[in-house]
Amino acid sequence: MTKDDPFEGTSGSVARRVMTGLVKVGIAIKSHAWQEAEGRNLTPTQGQILALLRLRSSTGLRLSELADGLAVSLATTSETVDTLVQKGFVQKTRLPQDGRVRTITLTETGKAEADRVAGWPDFLLDAVDTLSPAEQTVFLHGLIKMIRALQERGQIPVSRMCVTCRFFRPHVYPESDRPHHCAFVDLPFGDRHLRLECPDHEPSPPEAAERIWKQFVSLGSE
Ligand code: SF4
Repeated sequence: MTKDDPFEGTSGSVARRVMTGLVKVGIAIKSHAWQEAEGRNLTPTQGQILALLRLRSSTGLRLSELADGLAVSLATTSETVDTLVQKGFVQKTRLPQDGRVRTITLTETGKAEADRVAGWPDFLLDAVDTLSPAEQTVFLHGLIKMIRALQERGQIPVSRMCVTCRFFRPHVYPESDRPHHCAFVDLPFGDRHLRLECPDHEPSPPEAAERIWKQFVSLGSE
């Protein structure tokens, strides 16, 4: 600690403190998920599979897609899916066009359970609501940057975010509060509407992805 500025040298970098904050939020999420899962006689991984199936597909996901989506091994995914089949929450169906491939879908009971599981992280909403709309948008922007960086390094399951979507046209209306364009719905939208998980997402081809990203960050929130 220096006499002139007692904070310099003792607080650590802002990046490190942001990381510490994220770890604390992560602990809260994990502990809440365990409490909720126990109350419903599920493990957190079982809950995550139900939530992913609810979010990702009406036609079902393959075992490898579930494993990728959760960043867990194929063996763990297979074991967990078998337990969910026994509980009557999911079913395995052979693809009509290729009988060797089986997809996993939610049963009617599984859909109801998945709806409940989807509400597990809602406890965070009250905390997020303490941020002003402008702070929330900046926070969302920062999260998108972080998630993309982790995705690029293979350290997080791939999210279907606007910034990696082939329909995303960043900053085509620079003077507007809705500067971006979604070519899928053919409508403009703003930073506050950027999605982290969109059912209509299709990945950008690699050569376009980098260009789109540079365009997005060059004019985005600082
Ligand atoms: S399709 Fe979805 S992910 Fe793609 S740009 Fe439009 S809103 Fe974003």
